[in-house]
Amino acid sequence: MGQLNTQMVSRIFTNLFDNKPPQVITRAPGRVNLIGEHTDYNEGYVFPMALEFQLLTAAHRRSDRLVRIHSIDYRKTVEFSLDGPIRFDPVNRWSNYSRGVLALLLENDIKLSGIDLAFSGNIPQGSGLSSSAALEVGTALTLQALNGFSMERPELARLCQQAENTFVGMNCGIMDQFISMMGQKHHALFLDCRSLEYRHIPLELNRYRFVICHSGVKHSLVDSEYNKRREECNTGVAVLSQRFPRIKTLRDATLTQLNACRKELDPVVYRRCRHVITENQRVLQSIDSLNQNDLMTFGRLMNESHDSLRDDYQVSCDEIDLLVEFARNFKGILGSRITGGGFGGCTVSLVEIAQISDFSKQLIEYYQNKTHITPQIYISTPAAGAEIIGGK
Ligand code: ADP
Ligand code: MG
Repeated sequence: MGQLNTQMVSRIFTNLFDNKPPQVITRAPGRVNLIGEHTDYNEGYVFPMALEFQLLTAAHRRSDRLVRIHSIDYRKTVEFSLDGPIRFDPVNRWSNYSRGVLALLLENDIKLSGIDLAFSGNIPQGSGLSSSAALEVGTALTLQALNGFSMERPELARLCQQAENTFVGMNCGIMDQFISMMGQKHHALFLDCRSLEYRHIPLELNRYRFVICHSGVKHSLVDSEYNKRREECNTGVAVLSQRFPRIKTLRDATLTQLNACRKELDPVVYRRCRHVITENQRVLQSIDSLNQNDLMTFGRLMNESHDSLRDDYQVSCDEIDLLVEFARNFKGILGSRITGGGFGGCTVSLVEIAQISDFSKQLIEYYQNKTHITPQIYISTPAAGAEIIGGK
C-alpha cells in the first residue's frame, strides 16, 4: 500500500472522476477492543478504542442516479445505478460494504443522489481491527454529508452494522461500527450493547502504550465456532430463565444465579455462560480501575479476560497463547490478551514505553522460531472517531 494522505486520495479521485475535486473527504478509524469479548451479542458491555489506522474517502455528488466506487488500494472501480436493485458483488467483494450502506439507506426511504466515491485505507484488512466497519462508516458519513439527511451517529452506526449483517452476510455485533463512528481522541469507549448508552473514558496511559500483535493466523473455525458459541449462550439463557424469569440474556445473569443452576446446565454451556458473566464484570471493574488511574489492575483484568476466553469460552489458539504467554513474562508489561472474535487475529498488550522496542524485537524472533510466521506489530494511541476532514 502506498502512502495514505488526503492529498493523495483527493488527487486520485480528481484524476479518475472527470477532473472534479471532492466535495467531501472523510476519515474513519479501525479499532481494537481492550476488554469485553463475546459480550456484545449477549447484550453486555464492551470497551474498544479507535486506532490511528484509518480509511479515507473522497466523494462528489452526481446529478444523476449513477454510483461509481473506486478502491484505490485494489485499483478497481464498480458502477451501478440507484434505480436497479443493489446487488451483492461476488467478484469485487470490497464494494459490498458500501453497497450495503447504500441499500440500507434506500430501504429506510432516504433520498440519495448518485455519487462518485474513492477510498484508501491503512487498517490491516482481515486482522480483526475492523477495516470493514471503517469502510461502512466512511461511506455512511459521506452519503449523509452529500445528501443532507438527518440521522444521529448511533443510528447511522446501527445502519452500518445492519449493512454488514444483512448485505455482506457477516453476523457481527454493533461494537465495531459504533466505535469507528463515536471514538474520541485519548479515550476508550464504554458501550452498553443493550441500550447503546455509552461513556468516553479517558485513557491516561502515562508511561504505557497498547501494543497490538497480529498472529498472522486466522483458523477456519471462526465462523462455525462463533455460531456455536452464540447457540450455547442461548441454551444457557433458556435454562437460567426457567428459574429466574427476569433473565432475558446473559447480561441479566449473575454468577450466583449461574451456580444455582449448575446441575441443570451442560458443563460446556456452564463454562460459556461463566465467561460472559465474568467478562461483563471485568469490563465494569476496568472502568473503575481506569477512573482511579490504576493501570496495574486494568492489566490484571486483561490477563483474566484472556484466561477466561482460553479456558471457559475456548476461542483462543496455540499461536495466540504463545504471544500472550511471551508478553506476560516480559518485563514492564501489565497485561496481555486476545482481542477480537478468536481462533487467530490479534493480541493486545499494555506495555511500558521504554520496553516496546525490546519487546517487539524479541517477540518477533520468539514467535518466528516457534511458528515460522512473522507477526505484525502495531502501536497506536486512542484516536478520534470518524469525521469529515475536507472537501468544499
Ligand atoms: P476486518 O474488518 O477485521 O479488517 P473483514 O473481513 O471484516 O476484516 O473486512 C475486510 C474486508 O473489507 C476486505 O477484505 C475488503 O473487502 C474490505 N476493505 C477493508 N479495507 C479496505 C480497503 N482499504 N480497500 C478495499 N477494501 C477494503
Ligand atoms: Mg470486519
